[in-house]
Amino acid sequence: MPEGKFTHSIVKRNNPALEMILGAEGEKSLWCGPCAVESREQVLETAAFLKSMGVRILRGGAFKPRTSPRSFQGLGEKALVWLAQAREKYGLHVVSEVMDPADIPLMAHYVDVLQIGARNMQNYSLLKKLARQDKPVLLKRGPAATVEEFILAAEYILSGGRAGVILCERGIRTFERYTRNTLDLSCVALVKQFTYLPIIVDLSHSLGRKDIMAPLARAALACGADGLMMEVHPEPAKALCDGQQSLDFAQFQALLAETGCFGFHGRKRGRVIPLWSSRVNAWNEAGGLRKTENGTAGTKGGE
Ligand code: PEP
Ligand code: MN
Repeated sequence: MPEGKFTHSIVKRNNPALEMILGAEGEKSLWCGPCAVESREQVLETAAFLKSMGVRILRGGAFKPRTSPRSFQGLGEKALVWLAQAREKYGLHVVSEVMDPADIPLMAHYVDVLQIGARNMQNYSLLKKLARQDKPVLLKRGPAATVEEFILAAEYILSGGRAGVILCERGIRTFERYTRNTLDLSCVALVKQFTYLPIIVDLSHSLGRKDIMAPLARAALACGADGLMMEVHPEPAKALCDGQQSLDFAQFQALLAETGCFGFHGRKRGRVIPLWSSRVNAWNEAGGLRKTENGTAGTKGGE
């Protein structure tokens, strides 16, 4: 890679807005929540659960980029209001996707981080408009974008000198069919090599399945990923979008417990942050998941 190829992205910035979202340097973040916001109850129930697991960033789509125009397109502003309510109630940061440049002010009013979906990574008018506002941007890698194109897309946003950028590797399209996309972990290592930008890995959209999330979570963190995104839904079987790759609460809890590397919070500001597994144990002791009226899976005997 020729030196000096990237300009803005290699400049280390002191960005308080990003630090607030990501935590202290070296801290790993979890970005979790449903693919799409479906109801107020769904968002609040998920937010309560995630909060109890120590997750600080809630995701949820209000405007959904769907391959078929006949698929669920998201609930729009109503969904943003519920996300904002979950943020207030549980003290979470909220991230949601903006698809239309005209929606940026509306989105910025409700969410803490603006997500640019994979399909829009090269929507340059959207990127240029994001460069002129202050909210941090989570930029997902396009399914057919090279690492260079990915970093240059981030430069469009950074060139405004205002918004910070967090990159998100979410898999690229290959001939492989056992996974929805092919998780390209070399992208994480290369981004770390060439830039100072934080990068997280979206396990749900990379894999399109849940059964191999734990080893890939470990691999992503071993490669230097600053965090992980996972779709979490109270009842994946009934999800309007991406249920096959969404973890229910018991599965999410099991993933954290199984994945040894989730003890990464370590010490922060002089106090010991409980390891994920001990959070899980504490949560279990407090009663764990109970069966709800609408039949949410319990901790024991979940899917
Ligand atoms: C999403 O995170 O909701 C999403 C649609 O993912 P991607 O843009 O990576 O396909
Ligand atoms: Mn999804």
